[in-house]
Amino acid sequence: MKITQVTVNVLRVPVDRPYVAGGRTVDANWHVLARITTSDGVEGIGYIVYPRPDLMTTIGHAARELGEHLIGMNVLEPEAAWDRLARRGDWVGPGGLLHCALAPLDIAVWDAAGKTLGQPLHRLLGGYRDRLPTYASDGLWVSLSPAELAASAKRHVESGFGAVKLRLGKEATPELEARRVHAVREAVGPDVRIMVDAVESWSLARARHTGRVLQDAGIAWLEDPVHHLDVAGLAELRRQLEIPIAAGEHLYHLDAFRRLLEAQAVDVVILDLARVGGVTPWRKIAALAHAHRVPVCGHVVPEIQVHGLSAVPNGHMVEYVPRSAGILASMPRIEGGELVAPQAPGLGLELDEAAVRRYQVA
Ligand SMILES: [Mg+2]
Repeated sequence: MKITQVTVNVLRVPVDRPYVAGGRTVDANWHVLARITTSDGVEGIGYIVYPRPDLMTTIGHAARELGEHLIGMNVLEPEAAWDRLARRGDWVGPGGLLHCALAPLDIAVWDAAGKTLGQPLHRLLGGYRDRLPTYASDGLWVSLSPAELAASAKRHVESGFGAVKLRLGKEATPELEARRVHAVREAVGPDVRIMVDAVESWSLARARHTGRVLQDAGIAWLEDPVHHLDVAGLAELRRQLEIPIAAGEHLYHLDAFRRLLEAQAVDVVILDLARVGGVTPWRKIAALAHAHRVPVCGHVVPEIQVHGLSAVPNGHMVEYVPRSAGILASMPRIEGGELVAPQAPGLGLELDEAAVRRYQVA
């Protein structure tokens, strides 16, 4: 059960169809992949993924350096492991690059712990259910025309999704933003849930106006309407609009989530596994949200998020963006609009080792 070896690699996994997001062309998903070997011969894997190269090699270096401090630790003590690494790097934390470097290591420790105990991670973390509603979030970019967006949403629904999430925030008027929602609604019919992510694009005044128009268009939630540090703005929108407000994927620390929840600023908390620093802090933030009677959702990495979300009573929905499908033997399956949590021990994920070798850049 002792950790005997830690390796970290950086992978550049090309995307099938490059797209424009945040004004940049995305042609690859960059991964920092950690592997942990134990004295029993168990291997745990963990990774983070972002669709941009910036700093990923640096994060890989940081994870490699931090990972050395795991040697000799018990893989069944992930809290102790996280705490040791966080203390080693606390002068550049909390949050930021420290959490991004810690996350793949922490996920790998949990994967190895699950494999050591012969239990899937969702059961190890609490065990509440084995599947969760999922929504399609890939290929619904702001760079698409309303017609292209509608066609993409329709394809998702035809492949079994009961909900889709569109990116908005670049149109000249609220009415033009709503036109994108109307185009999708027309294509997918009345029963599909349509969520909207404004990716922090609006001022508070613009968010208030657009929120009212989108409310009339019938959306299921409005995500990141304003900057994530504008907690008062989010709280004001939540009071003024009737649609649920979702936020949280840009936050790093438990304290930031505490401020968000205490301000009653959100109806749905979204958690990014890399930014929060892995599974260990994820559990605490999910519990904090539960104490405020707020459901939680995951940001990307559905194959990992499905474990945490299945383990807690306030797990709400999984965002389905298969950014790591290119390095996995298979993705968890979707049944009846729900993502099924893998039942094999740990994460229940198998790397495609030939693909990992092919895409490795550091
Ligand atoms: Mg988002």
